[in-house]
Amino acid sequence: MKVLVTGAGRGIGKAVAEKFYNCGYEVYSNYLNTFPVFGKPIKADVSDILQVEKMFSEIGEIDILVNNAGVTLSGLFQNIQNEEILRLFNVNVFGTFNCTKFALPSMISKKKGKIINIASIWGEIGASCEVHYSASKAAIIGFTKALAKEVAPSDITVNCVSPGVIDTDMVACYEKSELKKDIPLNRLGTPKEVAKAVYFIAENDYITGHILSINGGFWR
Ligand code: NAP
Repeated sequence: MKVLVTGAGRGIGKAVAEKFYNCGYEVYSNYLNTFPVFGKPIKADVSDILQVEKMFSEIGEIDILVNNAGVTLSGLFQNIQNEEILRLFNVNVFGTFNCTKFALPSMISKKKGKIINIASIWGEIGASCEVHYSASKAAIIGFTKALAKEVAPSDITVNCVSPGVIDTDMVACYEKSELKKDIPLNRLGTPKEVAKAVYFIAENDYITGHILSINGGFWR
C-alpha cells in the first residue's frame, strides 16, 4: 500500500509518515525545505500545480493521500496584505486541491482510495487574529464533505483530521503556559497523537465525510 504525505519533513506530517512507515506502508514524504527522515523523499511545492503533476508522475499511483502541508497567518484581519492571503490559500487550499486532483484518477479506476485532509479547530470554530487561516481550514472542511459525496460511488473515502493546539514549529512563537489554559486536558497535543488519528481513519473503510477533531477537549 502506497501513501503520500505532504509536508512530511517536520511536525505533524513527519509523525504521520513515521506512523505509516512503522506500520509497513510504502511511504512517499513530500517536502519543500525540510528533508524528511521517514519514507522516500519527494520535493514539490504543493501550491504549484506543475510541481505537483511532476511529483505524481514520479510516484505513480497511490492508495492513500494525506494533505498535511500548511502555513499559518496571524494578525488583525484588516492588517493582512493580499499577497499573504494568496500565499496562505495557495498552500492550504490549492495545495490540497492540486494533490487530490492527481491522486484521484487512479483511485477512481481502481475503485479504492483514501484522502485525509488536515484541517484545524480554527476552521471549525474560528480564531480571532487568524481569520484568513480559519477561513482556509473551513474551506478544507467543506471540500472534504463535498468530495466525500462525489467519490463515494467509487468507494473512495475522504475525511478530515482536525487538530487543536499541537506542539510543533507552527505554535512555537506562543507561550505554552498561555496556550494550555484553554485546553481542558491542560497540555498541547503531540504530532504522534494526530498521526494515530490519521492512521485510524486510513484503516477504516466505512468512515467518510467525517471531521475527526483531536483537541484535548478544546471546544468553544
Ligand atoms: P509545521 O511544523 O509548521 O510544518 C508545516 C509543514 O508544511 C512543513 O513540513 C512544511 O514543509 C510544509 N509546507 C509548507 N508549505 C509547503 C508547500 N508549499 N509545499 C510543501 N510543503 C509545505 O506545522 P504543523 O503544525 O506540523 O502543521 C501541519 C498541518 O497541521 C498544517 O496543515 C497545519 O495547518 C495543521 N494544523 C496544525 C496545528 C498545530 O497546532 N500545530 C493545529 C491545527 C492544524 P517544509 O518544512 O519542507 O517547508
